[in-house]
Amino acid sequence: MEPNSVDLTLVEVERALVMPFVLDTPFVCVICRAVIHEPDGSSDMCENCMENARALDGEITPVLPITLYTRESVMRTWLTHYKPDIDGEHGEVTSAADVCVAAITLVLSSFFDANDWLLKDVDDVLVVPSTRRPPPHPLEEVVLRTAAGRFLVTGQLTRTRNQLEHRSASSIAYEGSEALRGRRVLLVDDVYASGARLQSAAAATRRAGGTVTRAVVVARRINPGYHPAIEERWNAAVELPFRWSRQEDGSTISRSSFAAPAAIDGS
Ligand SMILES: [Zn+2]
Repeated sequence: MEPNSVDLTLVEVERALVMPFVLDTPFVCVICRAVIHEPDGSSDMCENCMENARALDGEITPVLPITLYTRESVMRTWLTHYKPDIDGEHGEVTSAADVCVAAITLVLSSFFDANDWLLKDVDDVLVVPSTRRPPPHPLEEVVLRTAAGRFLVTGQLTRTRNQLEHRSASSIAYEGSEALRGRRVLLVDDVYASGARLQSAAAATRRAGGTVTRAVVVARRINPGYHPAIEERWNAAVELPFRWSRQEDGSTISRSSFAAPAAIDGS
């Protein structure tokens, strides 16, 4: 990795990172790592992922988040301001853009360095296109400075004119190019909330003939105030030391039946 032009240490960055909720623990969604806050025991996916899977004929891609973040956080500031402000949407700038770019670069490069298994079966790395921002995506610049950079391809996924609702995936919101046929693709995105964008992009990649091996997101949005069960998990997560190295995850899961064996036993 190139040295940072700004003075930001890994220790400072790590202070802003929160370990994602662990798979194979009760009430954690196997796809997006959200807390299943009102479990009925019928599925190991959260409501949102079931909704996305329904919209995408049961095909849904597990997401590997590097960190969790909340609305009021240093990570949120970095994620907002590492991208150029295209239309004044950022409001008053509270943090220098170069610091934010350095922070996101350090997060992504440290993660790929610690998890080289993520890239061993990959042909192409694709950044999920923005819904509003014209290409190139600022995250592509960041990915280029990481170990994943040598696999980065651009322009293979494009947004179509079809509407993409904030909370619901669509198989026609993106289009994949013919060059994706037969390729094993790792998707990368900056933030994950409902998953509508990323899951739609994964669907388009598959429709073009590619295989989505995994999806890595810099930060998974958590709303601890939404439910006491989420707050409890969040409070526990912020106490944990941050680790870069992760276990291998599954790849795309096909769920034509939503009555998958529940990993939830309430214990
Ligand atoms: Zn989920």
